[in-house]
Order: sequence, then structure tokens, then C-alpha cells
Amino acid sequence: MKKHNFSAGPSILSEYTIQKTAEAVLNFAGTGLSILEVSHRGKEFVAVCDEARAMIKEILAIPEDFEVVFLGGGASMQFCMAPYNFMEKKASFLDTGTWAGNAIKEGKFFGEVNVVASSKADNYTYIPKHYEVPKDSDYFYYCTNNTIFGTELHEDLHVGLPVIADMSSDIFSRPIDFTDYILIFAGAQKNLAPAGVTLAIVRKDALGKVSRPIPTMLSYKTHVDKESMFNTPPVLPIFSALQTLKYYKELGGVEAIQKMNKAKAELLYAEIDNNPFFKGTVTCKEDRSLMNICFVMNDGKEALEDEFAKFATSKGIVGIKGHRSVGGFRASCYNALPLESVQALVDCMREFAAAH
Ligand SMILES: *Cc1c(COP(=O)(O)O)cnc(C)c1O
Repeated sequence: MKKHNFSAGPSILSEYTIQKTAEAVLNFAGTGLSILEVSHRGKEFVAVCDEARAMIKEILAIPEDFEVVFLGGGASMQFCMAPYNFMEKKASFLDTGTWAGNAIKEGKFFGEVNVVASSKADNYTYIPKHYEVPKDSDYFYYCTNNTIFGTELHEDLHVGLPVIADMSSDIFSRPIDFTDYILIFAGAQKNLAPAGVTLAIVRKDALGKVSRPIPTMLSYKTHVDKESMFNTPPVLPIFSALQTLKYYKELGGVEAIQKMNKAKAELLYAEIDNNPFFKGTVTCKEDRSLMNICFVMNDGKEALEDEFAKFATSKGIVGIKGHRSVGGFRASCYNALPLESVQALVDCMREFAAAH
């Protein structure tokens, strides 16, 4: 049976990415060796790494003054690396969920952390608006897509300060306005590659401004200067990332991908809103994520949750169990998920409703 992979992360990759990765595991670039066993400094892999960085710049139309680097440690490492490199005294944060919360926690190791607004009291069912960001902040920080709670900032914010964003779960899903950013980072395992590599897009002239010494590996400058080759980078995930980037280019780039994501999300949200057995968890509709679509059984239908979960499994639907802090279901509709899979979930919800 065809599987429809709605996993939140690690998550679905394009068939192209998986096929090309499998081929390179057996015979990489005609070397007769597996990509798993060759030097990261060999000309074949250096070409892969350079091409991947160049394609990221091309696909996202990244301005000249930024550099793209591949790092280890997951997106979570960036929660400390960002303040280490950019916070002199104080930074402001928008608290929109667990991942923003983790960044806030790490920020406190480096200076004064100012939370401008939080939707925590309402279990992060919306994204706060109308807040002041103090002008004496070194930067403003937010997470564009809240993977766990299913809310998303659909635009880049401009607050008259440098901005840092965690785009782990919505990078490459829309065009980005780089005007105010000094750092954008994203763990690969949602929209790019297998787990193990983190993408960082760093504004070069924002580096070297904090007074504290920074350990070599935790300094963006190290990786920028050495073009991601200071030490052994995550070779296989970078190779896979390049395949995904080629696939994205073939699809027509981020504008085309955004259109497809909107069509998928509209289809599923319409079913959630119209099917009396289900309801969405995000209270502010304009904040609904196109990537992670959270829903629960409607009032009075709660007892059917396990039954629906089993029914969906029987239809080949994988990975829709909601995060424990929200409950219910979460359908992650990342870039590589075809519309056909969303249609399969919608059909399953309709069939379930008709049978009860
Ligand atoms: C998954 C995720 C993370 C954590 O990524 P790791 O690579 O596991 O550290 C951070 N932020 C967001 C928005 C995520 O979706």
C-alpha cells in the first residue's frame, strides 16, 4: 500500500532525493566508492558542498553580503550559537512556542533576555501581534513556523532592528525578504535533508561585533571563512540537501512551492472546518501554518480519537499523531508531500465521518 508520510520531523523527502542518495551510497560520482567512505576534502565532495551552497543562494535569492554554511549540532545548537555570536548585552524574543522557548532559555546564558510578547497562556494557539521591541536590543528573535503548535508567521517582520529567525520547519516554503536578517537557521530534517546538518545563512558584516571570545567551533566566522570545511561536515546530509535543492529548482523554486503548499493547506483546513467530527486547534486563522496542520476531534466526538487514528493507519496514513502538548492530530505537509497525500487524508476524514 502507498504510504502517506505526514511525519513532523525527520519527515518526508522527495523520491528524487532518496533515489539519488541511495545511488551515491553505492557509487558516489563515478568513484566506485560509497559517499560514506570518501574524504570530505576530495574534489567530488567539495564540488557537492559548493554547489549546494550556491543553489541555496540562488533558490532563496540571498543577497551578496550573506554567506551560507552547513553546521552540526541541530537547530538546537543555534539556540546558543546565535546569542554567543550576536548578543552583546540584550536581545528581544517573541515567544510563540516550545522552540522559541528553548532559544529564550539559552539566550539567558549570554545576557538580558526580553520577551516582547507570548501566547503561552493560550497554549500558543496564535502568534502575538502589537508589541514593542525595545530599541536597545542587539537583535529581535523569532521562530517563523511553530512546528509543535501549528502556527506560522507568513511574512518577515521589520522592527527597525537586526533580526534572527529559526526557520527549521518552513525554510524553502516561501520567498524570504532578507533586509533585516543577520542570521537565519534551519535544521535540515523538515524541508531539506536527513537529520544531521543545520543550514545557517549569516550576514557577514554582523560578525565580529561582540566583545566576548567565542570558541572556534561555535563561531560562525570559522565556518564562513572555511566555507563549511573547517572540520568534517555532515557529508551525507549535505549530499541529500543538494538533491532536494535540484528538485526544488525543477519544481519552479520557492514561489511555485509556496503555491503548492497553499493548495495543500487550503484543502485540509477546509475539511477540518467543514467536517463536524474535527476542529482546528489554532484560534487565529491567519496564523495557521501551511506546514504543520493541527486538529483534534470536535466537541462531543473526543471518544473517537483512537478509532480515527487506527482508521487513518489502515489507509496508509503515517505520522499524524499530534505532539503531546497539543494532543489530537498533526498533519505535517512539508514541501515534498504531494497534494495526493493530503487528498488521501481528506478522503479518510470524510469516510470516517460518513461511517459514524
Ligand atoms: C525541529 C525543530 C527544532 C529542533 O531541531 P533539532 O535539529 O532537533 O535541534 C528547532 N526549531 C524548530 C522550528 C523545529 O521545527
